[in-house]
Amino acid sequence: MTGLSRRAKYGLVHTDRGDTMIFHLGMSGRMRLDPSEIEKHDHVIFEVDSGKVVAFNDARRFGSLDFADTDRLDLHPALAGLGPEPLGDAFTPEHLARAFDGRAAPVKALLLDQRVVAGLGNIYVCEALHVTGVHPERLGRDVTRGEIEALVPAVKAVLEQAIAAGGSTLRDHAQVDGELGYFQKEWRVYGREGGACAVCAKPVERRVQSGRSSFFCATCQR
Ligand SMILES: [Zn+2]
Repeated sequence: MTGLSRRAKYGLVHTDRGDTMIFHLGMSGRMRLDPSEIEKHDHVIFEVDSGKVVAFNDARRFGSLDFADTDRLDLHPALAGLGPEPLGDAFTPEHLARAFDGRAAPVKALLLDQRVVAGLGNIYVCEALHVTGVHPERLGRDVTRGEIEALVPAVKAVLEQAIAAGGSTLRDHAQVDGELGYFQKEWRVYGREGGACAVCAKPVERRVQSGRSSFFCATCQR
């Protein structure tokens, strides 16, 4: 192994053979280091040069694991066509304005589209839209330049806060050291249907958009 990195929600393990392991933890997959025993859903077990053993456990089977040539990684089906990383320098108002231009899709769906911005989760989109006062059902082409200028830093700020708080969304999510992630982050709207909006005190609403819950304040978000 020569290094670890990440692209969107894929973990990348670069090897000295010139290829890279691409893995996705799915809904609740996890990697265990030097497991004391093999568990039922340990689908892949591998040993690295140092002698450490890693078990990839994925009870719900939404995860994936594959290998690709390191110098052709961007061509792998999982990674091809991905938009910029939200915390990277390429995720700019100019980029988002181009991605929204003329689009008749809701802004919520566009922000969840991996080709627009890679690896942005439902929670962070709900939160960033509330921060900027943009209704999740507004069409991409109707989002103003000023709102886009506010949306990009809001996405970055929401992500940075979540990372600082432990980054966990599932109670059984484990960090790489095996410790459970925190689950004490108080979101502005996410998961708070019927609760008071922190800005205007009106109840937070929930609506399902393309199979995902959108939490928003109909007063603050237009
Ligand atoms: Zn409100």
